[in-house]
Amino acid sequence: MSQFIEEMVYASQILYLEGHNDINNGQISYRDPESGNIWIRKGFLGWEETTPDDFILIDSEGNRLKGEGHIPSEWPLHTETYKARADVNCIIHSHPPYSMIFSATDLDLRPVTHDATPIMNTQRFTLTTNTVTNPNIAAQVAESLGKSNTLLLKNHGLVAAGKTIPETVCWAAVLENACKLQLIAESTGVPYTWTEGHEIKMKSKIIFGATAIREYWAYWCRKADRHFNPDSKNHLVGV
Ligand SMILES: [Zn+2]
Repeated sequence: MSQFIEEMVYASQILYLEGHNDINNGQISYRDPESGNIWIRKGFLGWEETTPDDFILIDSEGNRLKGEGHIPSEWPLHTETYKARADVNCIIHSHPPYSMIFSATDLDLRPVTHDATPIMNTQRFTLTTNTVTNPNIAAQVAESLGKSNTLLLKNHGLVAAGKTIPETVCWAAVLENACKLQLIAESTGVPYTWTEGHEIKMKSKIIFGATAIREYWAYWCRKADRHFNPDSKNHLVGV
């Protein structure tokens, strides 16, 4: 099995365990650096149900090249983002509850805890709350994402984009956690503080540096193994 397929199965299981499940919705994709074609998780499948056989190879226009199953209707969100971002090799689109609720507010994302510090430039896409099935709309999603790693889709969900699969899982997980913790802070009704100034940069560099992300990924893989595959000794690490 290719390493990136194995990583995408782990990523799907991790997203399930980190609260990104919404019935059978959500996609992860990976761009093959050699061909430029895109492996995407098939549609109508819960994150936790994903196996190595559940990925479909498509070209940049959404045509099937390999694999069986339903090509998810939001494939243009992936293809258009890859066209706009040469530095991105993995994209996650999910519908986790706190990101969806946060996206429906006009709150600025604040680093109430460490989580938001590496994703302070997260914007909201507000053109539509609908699913992104149209390449023209998808190109505008990619424009809203800009050079950042995360984007909120108003009343819909999140997009995370990164160089590697482990890094992209990390951005998706920290965005959902940041939204969750800020919404809890807001709901207390009492004033609260957040990280400011140079500490944002310091936290982003240290708490979400390459070593930290590699170890977060290793932990998440061990957690997934304990849940889905308790007999496995294969704790995959790769950033
Ligand atoms: Zn969606």
